[in-house]
Amino acid sequence: MKKTLIKNIHTLATFDNGKEIKNAYIKIEDNIIKEIGSGEVESSGFDVVIDAKDMVILPGFVNTHHHFYQSLFRAVPQVQDAKLFDWLVFLYEKWKNIDEEAVYVSTIVAVMEMMKSGVTTTTDHLYLFPKGHPYLFDSEIEGAKLTGVRFYGTRGSMSLSKKDGGLPPDSVVQTDEEILKDYERVINLYHDPKPFSMTRVALAPCSPFSVTKELMIQTREFANRHNLLLHTHLAETKDEDIYCLEKFGKRPVDYMEELGWLNENVWFAHLVHLTDEDIKKLSDNNVGMAHCPTSNMRLGSGIAPLYKMKNTNMRIGIAVDGSSSNDTGNFLLEIRNAMLLQRVAYGESALTAREALSIATTGGAKVLRLENEIGSITVGKAADLIGFKLEDRLEFAGGLSDPVACLVFCDAKQVDFSMINGEVVIEDGHFVHIDEEKYIAKQNEISKKLLS
Ligand SMILES: [Zn+2]
Repeated sequence: MKKTLIKNIHTLATFDNGKEIKNAYIKIEDNIIKEIGSGEVESSGFDVVIDAKDMVILPGFVNTHHHFYQSLFRAVPQVQDAKLFDWLVFLYEKWKNIDEEAVYVSTIVAVMEMMKSGVTTTTDHLYLFPKGHPYLFDSEIEGAKLTGVRFYGTRGSMSLSKKDGGLPPDSVVQTDEEILKDYERVINLYHDPKPFSMTRVALAPCSPFSVTKELMIQTREFANRHNLLLHTHLAETKDEDIYCLEKFGKRPVDYMEELGWLNENVWFAHLVHLTDEDIKKLSDNNVGMAHCPTSNMRLGSGIAPLYKMKNTNMRIGIAVDGSSSNDTGNFLLEIRNAMLLQRVAYGESALTAREALSIATTGGAKVLRLENEIGSITVGKAADLIGFKLEDRLEFAGGLSDPVACLVFCDAKQVDFSMINGEVVIEDGHFVHIDEEKYIAKQNEISKKLLS
């Protein structure tokens, strides 16, 4: 058994019932937090001792929605100022050329970017399987494994192409049969539901406008049989409202209700355009949400009414969304944008810094139904921890009267320390085991090729 001690912690923000401890320590055995306390502690008998003097330590962030492959397509000139449907129609034509290597490398790059900004658990929504490349999900799993992140992959899908009234072109959709068969394959191969597992899989048809009704229902039935979570995009834009009304005679949340998709095993990305009745329905059914403020701002989609949802039964997490519509994977920035954007819509105290951090940690854990394993620094939970040095950082200079809130208010740039499942993955701001430069170079090479 490996014993780890983290001592002299300037401020430990546990996000366990708001408990914050000064001059704290954490004792860890293998991957599990065994003891939390404050004051002097004996270092002998530990295999690893980490001195966290001048550091604030938090639980690692949980990113609840992403499209890793899109990190190859950031800031594409032709769609920098486009709204969602136009942006999608243009990018499908570029995205259709991705292959196994592109997915593998972009996964590593996207995860590295998030790990540097504090993410220790992430999901991804991979819904693009161009003709001839049915096994891209496998490349993603392989890439995520290399990074050491706790990964909740979602096997996405698109089955409704332009000729059938959907948005994507034929070249990137699969048949319902192909998709259902692959669910079985990837669940058998990769989904590990054991406590503290590093790899899990959920199912995620892309959106109401790219998947058939039958596939939505069959996916839900498959998920129920195998006890899996379900995920999709919902109520992101006004165009989607119009599409759903025309096509299904009802708005997005009502359509999901009809499909049996409102329950405690479902989380939706976005949820921007909602009525008060929609929010009540989502709350009554304990539905989860990945809030993506930067993407919503970037595409001009709108402001999700988080302020109205934060005290309901909804489970709410934060997410960077894909890098074609963010166009960063900087999770710290996402937390800050979440806080600020709610204030634009609902006033100066709509979301506090600690509320935003809580949504980013315990909130995200609830969205992925991992609240018993991660999301707070609690005895018995996984040692997924991040640390920020306070005293020698330009952005925090003058902000140390509240070292926790200053991470959000003063725009913390990146973590100095990250531990995932008991393993140190970032030390002094650098990856312990990933060759960052190698993958950046490779990513730029692939991106150039795909955009040319
Ligand atoms: Zn998305």
